[in-house]
Amino acid sequence: MRLLRTVFAVALTATALGACAKPVSQNALATGPVKAQDAVAASAPDTIVTGGIASSVSASYTQSMPRRIFHGTSLAGRTLEVGSAADIQLKPGEVILTFDDGPRPGKTEHILDTLEAHGVKATFLMLGSQAKAHPELAREVALRGNTVGNHTYDHADLAKMSRQDAMDDIARGATAIATVLDGAGGGLSPFFRFPYLAQTGFLRTSMLQGDVVVLDVDIDSKDYYAETADDVIQRTLKRLDARGSGIILFHDIHQRTVDLLPVFLDEIAARGYTVVSLKPRTPGVFGRSVVTASVAGVKTGQPAPF
Ligand SMILES: [Zn+2]
Repeated sequence: MRLLRTVFAVALTATALGACAKPVSQNALATGPVKAQDAVAASAPDTIVTGGIASSVSASYTQSMPRRIFHGTSLAGRTLEVGSAADIQLKPGEVILTFDDGPRPGKTEHILDTLEAHGVKATFLMLGSQAKAHPELAREVALRGNTVGNHTYDHADLAKMSRQDAMDDIARGATAIATVLDGAGGGLSPFFRFPYLAQTGFLRTSMLQGDVVVLDVDIDSKDYYAETADDVIQRTLKRLDARGSGIILFHDIHQRTVDLLPVFLDEIAARGYTVVSLKPRTPGVFGRSVVTASVAGVKTGQPAPF
């Protein structure tokens, strides 16, 4: 049983590694159960078209007008009330915007301005350490109508820690962010994302049992790659168009992301996509039982296998 569980966890981790700084294979795009269509999309490497014709093309923005794929009349879409991950059911043409690793002065404010200018809301998965270092900015994210979730205290790879240390890090992040927000804009929501998308079966199960909503990633913009903003936009649009909907991962700590967001939002608006915002069904609660269990120092009595 334990071996089986370990194998399961390793498999989960192997498919999950892939966000927030670690360049990975093209196959590691999503967490959680991978649907057949995702697997097909994930296995198709991006094709960068080069060749003789390229040299004769102007270096300016050359993409033709995008075809209108969906029929959204306004970029701002539904607000989903979420009590568990199962509630996050997107229709074709719907996207959820998420920003991880902030808040970061000089970057997050611009992201907020762009979102506001386009009339949409996003979910920010913050690090407790960063919220603590920049409390006014963290509160501004919430007060401007965005949803704030937890991304641990300092971005440790939880899959490489003991179970207890991992749970403690999650609880420490939640406590720091909730303290900084102090209820502003609805306070800390139950949304959580694993750093590097590195999860284990034990941690994921613990989160689910503790009223935490683990937020997976359908489309990783890989905005942390040393590429141009346009490269990131084109790759992300390509993946989004192939999928038709999904949770998109960005990071509000890069100038590249600040630069690309206005263009990206214009592009998806032109294609008829709508941006869905997430609201917790029970505001102001972040996995109370998870945090309590961790603070209480519950031990399993045996070393964690993963
Ligand atoms: Zn991250």
